Amino acid sequence: MNDPETLISEKDIGTRVDELAAEISSDYADKGELVLIGVLKGAFIFLADLSRKLTIPRLIEFIAISSYQHGSMPSGAVRLVMDVRASIEGRHVLIVEDIVDTGHTLHYLIDMLESRGPASIRTCALLRKEHKTEVDIEVDYLGFKIGDEWVVGYGLDFAERDRTLPYIGVIQPDDPD
Ligand code: 5GP
Repeated sequence: MNDPETLISEKDIGTRVDELAAEISSDYADKGELVLIGVLKGAFIFLADLSRKLTIPRLIEFIAISSYQHGSMPSGAVRLVMDVRASIEGRHVLIVEDIVDTGHTLHYLIDMLESRGPASIRTCALLRKEHKTEVDIEVDYLGFKIGDEWVVGYGLDFAERDRTLPYIGVIQPDDPD
């Protein structure tokens, strides 16, 4: 099996994560504790790196949703699989996503979390496939825009494979080997 072709190198990811962390730290300075909500499983590495680079008080939470049933095939529905543990009422929240594709997942999460009365909700995503947008969602902190390709690595998988690659690579879902 060949390694996936590199789309974004480990070094470039590190540089961009540092930039995003600096921007977020500056925007939330003096606003109290920021609740970072990582969307499992894909955002776990991005959240780990980003959160350690922040210079502001922060709390780590996770949420799990299911939007794709098999590999790269969309199921059409977004479903909550695991909720956050902390109350977010009156608190500043940053949703941390691996990748925004159609925008349905982020839209669902923002709607659901907004109903709980946070002080604010913003979004941070490492990657966005812009021309696939179906729901008009603003990503406040975005790492990279990419094309319409299936990406793996740095937390992202194909059928649970390649999640721990240190870089973002591209595979052909029909022929992952
Ligand atoms: P959306 O609801 O925006 O269409 O889809 C977002 C979710 O789809 C992401 O959180 C991720 O789980 C999955 N996804 C979309 N494109 C890719 C991709 O290229 N690679 C991987 N591994 N997951 C993707």
